[in-house]
Amino acid sequence: MEISNHKMPAIWYRQSSNIGAVREKLPVVIVLHYTTGWNGKASRDWLMGTAGGSENRSSSAHVVIDRDGTAWQIAAFNRTAWHAGPSRYGEIEGLNHVSIGIEFVNPGWLRPNGLGDFIDPYGRRMTEKALEAAGGYMLSPHPRVGGETYAWPLFPEAQIDMGLSIVQSLVAAYPVRAIVSHEEIDTRGWKTDPGPAFPFDRFRAMLGEVNDREESQVVTAGRLNLRGGPGTAYEKIVPPGTLLKGTRVKILKRDSGWAYVAPEDGNGREGDLRGWVNGAYIAPAVTA
Ligand SMILES: [Zn+2]
Repeated sequence: MEISNHKMPAIWYRQSSNIGAVREKLPVVIVLHYTTGWNGKASRDWLMGTAGGSENRSSSAHVVIDRDGTAWQIAAFNRTAWHAGPSRYGEIEGLNHVSIGIEFVNPGWLRPNGLGDFIDPYGRRMTEKALEAAGGYMLSPHPRVGGETYAWPLFPEAQIDMGLSIVQSLVAAYPVRAIVSHEEIDTRGWKTDPGPAFPFDRFRAMLGEVNDREESQVVTAGRLNLRGGPGTAYEKIVPPGTLLKGTRVKILKRDSGWAYVAPEDGNGREGDLRGWVNGAYIAPAVTA
């Protein structure tokens, strides 16, 4: 997918009213979302604000991708769109000004009603048959939603293919250091998108080479256990036992969600210490 003048000439473009000024720096993060709905055009128009004929004056995105693979760009990639809300990633506070937001049309979770049907967040009922006809679903619990197991409609292959194609082009065109879910950057603990049905690994894999070039990553948990192997069954390495938030580490290798790291001293030098940490609690040391 060609990107020219911060737009994709092959794709429909109209500018949302809900965007910020042209930014001086190129985007370094891509944030992936779902729309919480089935209707792509309705979400697109909503996110376009008054330019889309809607009342919405507070949210937008750069691209909306419908379930059939149709994509609409509603903000140029060098303008800030309003999709991340209160958010943090590594050392960056508030992701909107450094990121590109992509919305995938998908309703998110539906709650089983115990009678074989499912209820969406707006209170609408869907039969299992209707969910199957709409592309199928998976069942998964989610602590941010509640204590039950929820139905998460799948993302059709045409939609994912278009998403992969766009993200690949963005990674090639911009100094993208991280591809993240809205859920993982949301500081209010509300967001669940794009959810467990989204094939996130296929997106993050595109950054594999970029991440290998990373100079360092930063600890995002308050205290992160440093262990002798890739799992909680391994003993902590004492001292230090834990790494404090903000500690920079170099990743030497990864294994099923865990990372073998070398913590750096204050001058960016590796010491002799090595150990394994849960990869969910380190993030590229991206600075805005
Ligand atoms: Zn979102």
